[in-house]
Amino acid sequence: MKQVTAGLWEIDEIGSAVHCYLWEWREGYTLIDTGFPKDARTVLDTLVANKIPLHAVRRIIVTHGDLDHTGGLAQIRRATQARVVCHAVEKEFLEHPMRRRPAKWLLRVPFRLATLLPGLYQRPVTPDELVVDGQELPEGFTVVHTPGHTPGHISLVHRERRLLIAGDAISNRGGKLRAPSNGFTPDVDNAQRSIWRLAKRYGDEIEMVVFGHGPPILSNGGKRVKGLASQIFSAEI
Ligand SMILES: [Zn+2]
Repeated sequence: MKQVTAGLWEIDEIGSAVHCYLWEWREGYTLIDTGFPKDARTVLDTLVANKIPLHAVRRIIVTHGDLDHTGGLAQIRRATQARVVCHAVEKEFLEHPMRRRPAKWLLRVPFRLATLLPGLYQRPVTPDELVVDGQELPEGFTVVHTPGHTPGHISLVHRERRLLIAGDAISNRGGKLRAPSNGFTPDVDNAQRSIWRLAKRYGDEIEMVVFGHGPPILSNGGKRVKGLASQIFSAEI
């Protein structure tokens, strides 16, 4: 595990294609996303290797129901008995992963075939707790509904720590912040509005940003998010 900041680790043992995070708080630990189905074993082994008892993982917050973020969810939940938390609108995709389709129709058949492979097959999970925009979580996070990439995508803001966990609302690729990729984002307009919302509400409060894809930004993160929003909308925020 790689520490990002006080109380936050990236479970980098699963590689760098997608990131999942471990957050420490007064009641134990919360996992934020769980990687691909094939990553579940690695996440559990990493916890054990770092002397974190599996039952100390109290909750798993899901930024969205995609295969690379919740693929390992069923197995990790079973092993930890953690409560699964997601946005109310995302529940459907956790319970019926087959309903998630790429935005580009050309990708749909290959995507569906790929998800039948054992390492990519996503087992359904019924969440324990549904959250909505603005909700305060016991871990200290505020939920920000950031739809577009998926209908119930959420990002998390920790005001006190000046931290944004962006999920796939924004990615950091090639040294640049970017909106989520069009191929897998059915509602591009809404995804762009979500970036604007993050920038407007929290741009001045945030220092650090971590992403589902791409390396963390440790300082001036809010300014960078505002820069991206200004660039997308050709308007100063
Ligand atoms: Zn992703």
